[in-house]
Amino acid sequence: MTQRSAEPSWIWPRAAYVHIPFCAHKCGYCDFASLAGADAQADRYLAALEREIEVATCGQSQSVDTIFVGGGTPTRLDADQLARLMRIIKSAFSLAPEGEWTVEANPGTLDAAKVEALVAGGVNRVSLGAQSFHTDLLRTLERNHGPDEVARALELVKPAFPRWSLDLIFGVPGSTIDQWKFDLETALAFEPSHLSCYGLVYEKGTALWKQWNDGAVRSLDEETERTMYEHTIDRLASAGLQMYEISNFAHPGHESRHNLVYWANDAYFGVGLGAARYVRGERATNTRELGAYLRRIEAGEDPTGPAESLEPEARARETSVLMLRRTQVGLDRNDFQLRTGFDLDALLGEPIKKAVAHGLLADDGQKIAFTREGLFLADSVLCDLL
Ligand code: SF4
Repeated sequence: MTQRSAEPSWIWPRAAYVHIPFCAHKCGYCDFASLAGADAQADRYLAALEREIEVATCGQSQSVDTIFVGGGTPTRLDADQLARLMRIIKSAFSLAPEGEWTVEANPGTLDAAKVEALVAGGVNRVSLGAQSFHTDLLRTLERNHGPDEVARALELVKPAFPRWSLDLIFGVPGSTIDQWKFDLETALAFEPSHLSCYGLVYEKGTALWKQWNDGAVRSLDEETERTMYEHTIDRLASAGLQMYEISNFAHPGHESRHNLVYWANDAYFGVGLGAARYVRGERATNTRELGAYLRRIEAGEDPTGPAESLEPEARARETSVLMLRRTQVGLDRNDFQLRTGFDLDALLGEPIKKAVAHGLLADDGQKIAFTREGLFLADSVLCDLL
């Protein structure tokens, strides 16, 4: 595999994802490739990551526009390990001038030395997982931090990084509309230029899903969740944070460029435990089992699980669904044809017309986007297109 910089961004990656799986504690709702109590493996993991990156890039420096270090909790690594991680990434990926390099962090895991290592490494954006400012809701989510730790983390983050974002979760069992309003106001008081607001999902197999399945916790009713989401859209718009994706809001120019790569269905490198990559139309995901990941890489073997080579039509349908998530850009007929080779109306004319007739999608003849009503029923509209 050699670099083909002349290839379009949906064939050859201009983005890299690096996964760090370590966490202080496994949150009840978490379905990510994350592990508690495995910190002792961090140095071994970094060595494996270095080898995997070398193979993934054929030892050639790859020029990228965005790098995203996610987890897990990347800032669970100590300052020396973070500095080493920065060196590993920089030896393989060359970030374009004005490029975006994001690292995810959790409250309670940052200190001055870690921030210094990230800044010295070239990181220019931090995404901080606040989730809620209510102790009881953080407890329900089994988060390992208190509300006050967000402010302490931001004291370090705000002066050090030109861009940063907060993650919040609404629809937590037992939460009220007033609590959600308070969470939004508290987040806005920090003056973020980017907010991600996710509705809680009960992912099968998680501790929270088991409690819900056993009847120990009850999900919020649909009407309450809708009111929470509706309030989010309106309140954040009034604060100048425009919705640009179903769950993401930003001041103009502060959108997550890396996540826009996913929603354009562009190609990306992906390395680390459970990481997905998408290169030349082939999607592949690494094993999610830490022991297997380490052993395979140390033995010179491939850590990949089954690769999925998408048929052109399946890839086109998937592209339509991802593009529609972008609430401002929407699904542009010319862009879709250029990227997939399919005529949008020939492939998806029927479900699109049906959603337009129900007032869920708007079609201006060139692009298709969700209406406000459609946003509340986005999952079923996207399902129809697939
Ligand atoms: S901190 Fe994030 S990645 Fe780690 S267990 Fe909690 S939700 Fe999962």
